[in-house]
Order: sequence, then C-alpha cells, then structure tokens
Amino acid sequence: MRRRFAAFLLAGVLLCTPASAAVSTVQSQTIVRVGLAYDTTAMAAPQLQNVDGTGYDIGTMNGTSFSAAISVSQTRLTIKPQGTGLAVLDTDSGQVLYQTSGTTLAISPRGTLTWFNKYKYRGDFVYTRTGNAVTVVNYVGLEDYIKGVIPYEMSASWPKEALKAQAVCARSYADGQMDRHKSQGFDVCNGTHCQVYKGANSATANSDAAVDETQGKYIYENDKKVVGCFFSSDGGATESSVNVWGGNYAYLTGKVDPYENTAAASNGVWSVTLTAAELQSKLQSAGYLIGTIQSVQVTKRTAVGNVNELTITDTSGKQVVLSKDKCRTALGLNSIRYTVNGLGSTQAVTSNSAASGLYINGTLATDGSLYAVSENGTVSAIGSANGKTALTGTGTQTITTTTSGSQTTINTADPAATGASYTFSGTGWGHGVGMSQYGAKAMAEQGYTYDQILQFYFTGVTVK
Ligand SMILES: [Zn+2]
Repeated sequence: MRRRFAAFLLAGVLLCTPASAAVSTVQSQTIVRVGLAYDTTAMAAPQLQNVDGTGYDIGTMNGTSFSAAISVSQTRLTIKPQGTGLAVLDTDSGQVLYQTSGTTLAISPRGTLTWFNKYKYRGDFVYTRTGNAVTVVNYVGLEDYIKGVIPYEMSASWPKEALKAQAVCARSYADGQMDRHKSQGFDVCNGTHCQVYKGANSATANSDAAVDETQGKYIYENDKKVVGCFFSSDGGATESSVNVWGGNYAYLTGKVDPYENTAAASNGVWSVTLTAAELQSKLQSAGYLIGTIQSVQVTKRTAVGNVNELTITDTSGKQVVLSKDKCRTALGLNSIRYTVNGLGSTQAVTSNSAASGLYINGTLATDGSLYAVSENGTVSAIGSANGKTALTGTGTQTITTTTSGSQTTINTADPAATGASYTFSGTGWGHGVGMSQYGAKAMAEQGYTYDQILQFYFTGVTVK
C-alpha cells in the first residue's frame, strides 16, 4: 500500500511530451520492451523465479520473436557474465545450464508470471552484458504492460470508469513514448521518466478489467493518435500546453474544472513558505543569477487563472522573470495555480484605525471587512465577514494606507510584497495539462463514463 501510494504520488509530476506523438512509430507492434535494469541499475547477476508453471526456454530474441535453444525444468535461474558472454545457472545448485559466447540471450518462462527483483512480471526477458553488468529488459504484450502501469499511476480501488480513463491515457501516453530509449535497446523504462511499471504485483481484478474493457483504445484528434497527458489534480482548472511547455495543441486546452474535489485530493491544497535566502538559493540552483530578494509578484495569469509569469526582483533592481512551467519547477512548487502571500487573495481588515489605517477610496475600512488584493496591488472585490458591514464600492479600486497623512500603495503596505519570507499558497498537484486523475475520480463518482471523462479533459477528441 505504501509503495503504491508513493508511486501514485509520482504521477503528479509525470512529464508529458506531446511533440513526440505527432508520428506513431508503434504501428502494429504488440510487444513493449521495458527496461527493468540498465545503466546504473544494471545488475551483476539477475535472477528469475517461477511464480506459476515450471521451467524456462532459453535462446535468443530476434526483433520481438523468441527462438528457443534449450528448455530447462529448474524453478530458479541466475544470469551472469562468464567467459566472453553470459551464463545461465540453476540458482539452487549453481550448475551452469546454458552458456553463450555472445553478449545477449533471452529467456521465456513457461508460466504466466515470473519473479524478478521482488516483482512478478508477465512476458519474456532479454539479458545483455555490458562489462560485468547485465541489462534486463522485459518483453511484454502492450495490454499486459498497461496492466502493470495502471495500479502505479492510479489507485486500483478507484471507480472503474476512472481506471478505464487512466488505462486509455496510459496506452495513449505509451504510444507516444516508444522512441525514448531506442539507443539503449528498449522502448520504455520502468520509472516516472516514462511510466511507472512494476509488473503484476499491484494489479487487481478491478484494474485489470479496466484495461480489458478498453483494450486497444486510444485518444484521437482528427483521426491522429495523441498523447494522453495526465497529472494528479488541477486545483480548479487545467492548463493549455502552450502555457506550460510551449507547444500549441488544440486537444490540450486549459479549462475550469467543475468536477474535481481538490480539497479531498492528495496534496490538492498546499502552502510553502520560503525565506528570501531560500528563494535566492532555489533560483540560483535553477541557473538564475539574482541577489538578495526584494519582492515576488505574479505578473501574468492565464485565461483560467493559472500563474503564467512570476517576477522576482532583488535589492539592486535586477529581475528574474519565470514563465510557463518554470513558475512551478524552478521553485519546486506543486502546481502553477497559486498566489504569493496576500497578493491575489482575499484578506480581512484587522485593527484598523483612523491614525494609521486602511482606506478604500478615502473611506476607512472597518475591522473584519474583506478586501481582495490583485497582484498589481489593486482591490477587485469587497465583501463582508463576521457580521460586519462590507465596504461599499465595486470594480477595481486602489487601496491606500495613510500614516501621518502620507499615502502608500498596497504593494508596500502589504507585508506580502516585500519581506523576509514569501508564502506560496496553491491548489493542484502536477503540470496541469490533460487529465486530472482526481477529476476523473470525481466524474466517475458522479456517473460519467470513461470516454466522457476523456472528452472533458481532452478537447475535441474521440476515443476509439
Ligand atoms: Zn523512460
């Protein structure tokens, strides 16, 4: 449960690169080659163990076709470098069962499921020796691959229609990712870089059924397959790809989300306070040159209210302007839907007095009345709280304070604008482009079908 949850959380930061979806390279391919151990995770002596069935066929893989050289009846095998090639040993007796002079071999288990490195997998395995390390690649059918992805991207206990929407997303996403590891000899990795895949351990009847019931279905825009981008929660509105990654895709158009229950979403409501020094350090780590931070302001929002530009000014007047997804990633924030301190939020007037008080259009604000401060320091809405009388006035008005007769703007008066620390308060978790997983859950709970869910989050698409 803990593992599943942790993996699920990672979905919130899953990258999505729709550009690679323009041309599908998968064609009729039904086998996905998944890197399980490679580069720094390549192993000295990977093992296999039957879960069901008995024994293995050992041989070679040509393309995605397995050819057996010998069959063995052992339950547990160990593969390791020996001589110029690879040896397959009976793990229990140490007996060498098979030896190659070349640097690669393939093993096809007789059973359906096979243990490898604490997880059980469907499909075959291909081993490649690099120096004294062995790379392990799982050759698995696309639908079985998706069954191994779904429970790590969305809780298998969620409503079936949400899982089905996720299955189509995962299939459509995978379809656009098949070239990412070509140079390493496989199609996709098993981590968040592609999609988290750990075989059959966490699959349930519910999650497997979601894959079976959407078998072979993809998301299409004008008869062209598109990438099913997704993320954890949108906090109230998804965002257009052009405002996040820069690529303009009509099907990835941001919209206000009336379905998602953000308050119930994991990390759906968040707040982080950074000191000026921490902020400076984060920006410098992200490659931006800036001195002591003087102010932080949202200087541009998108049509649906997400942050599109964040301007940070240092004490010498130098500015760093973050835009698009950098407004989230450069500072390690959860989403692009946030406010900075009081600016852009609603605040209540406290301890107001005529001697040193908050005035709106020349009228002293009463304690408890609300004012909404926009990000350029103007008030855009006025309400009431605690039974106290609301201030009159509508539209955008400048808030000023007076101290001994002098007036300053809210940017100076508000401790939010300048100070020793800055609080970012936001909603949503992830890049915000495509399908909100918590939104899909909410829609499923409200009776929507998986294709209705996908057609809400992806504009103008068909599912077939
Ligand atoms: Zn990858």
